[in-house]
Amino acid sequence: MKVKDNSPKGKYDPVKKAEEIARVVCRDDLRKYYRFRPARFYGGIATADCVGCSLRCLFCWSWHQVVNPDRYGKFYSPRQVAGKLTGIVRKKGFRQVRISGNEPTISREHLLKVLDLVPRDIRFILETNGILIGHDKTYAEDLAGYENIYVRISLKGCNEEEFSALTGAEPGGFDLQLQALENLSRAGVKVHPAVMVSFSPPENVKALQRRLGTIDREFEDIEVEELVLYGNVENRLKRAKIGYDAAYYPDCIPPEQV
Ligand code: SF4
Repeated sequence: MKVKDNSPKGKYDPVKKAEEIARVVCRDDLRKYYRFRPARFYGGIATADCVGCSLRCLFCWSWHQVVNPDRYGKFYSPRQVAGKLTGIVRKKGFRQVRISGNEPTISREHLLKVLDLVPRDIRFILETNGILIGHDKTYAEDLAGYENIYVRISLKGCNEEEFSALTGAEPGGFDLQLQALENLSRAGVKVHPAVMVSFSPPENVKALQRRLGTIDREFEDIEVEELVLYGNVENRLKRAKIGYDAAYYPDCIPPEQV
């Protein structure tokens, strides 16, 4: 097993962490963002990078914004965000948008208003850790009102122990991630699991696939996420004494991961 839980004893509750961070990055229906850009992922997608997350994944590529949300970004209204995303889509000839960077679900009111304002002919890919959707099934029901939404839940490891070691959060957060898949599936939202597998032995990946299959057979077919050694990721993992298998440097990401 590559993941040993070496993080300090004091684990945090990711739902409480979301509430705490929301006080920094949300103001009424405004949300902090640090960048708007066209991105090559998904064959071309307009991307708004938000600030603030409920987790602290050691492999996070936008770590600075996660740990210092007060120092990054500016507040934007839903109308400004939808306008910027739609503008990039029309200029670049894309057909999809996403909110990325940190965790989009932290500001529910803001997110739902952005969804209201993005034209329905544009696909909205919601990339999320799923914690808040797993915690409250009415969030999934709200998202079911948008026929252009597609949700990608990014699972942090293959079980509770790996999740906790990689994020520093209470192990039960992993169950919330799985619950999010169930809540969304039951609400009729198009959703699939992506799994960070670089820290997991193959038997743990297989066990997770079986577990996912009990929620929905289609979830056994996971999207594989592999470690990219952005910025200080390598050092953070070394300090935490967490080993890994497949990993890439940012300039050598294989095409299937893009
Ligand atoms: S959930 Fe995503 S944004 Fe949040 S810490 Fe983990 S990798 Fe970073």
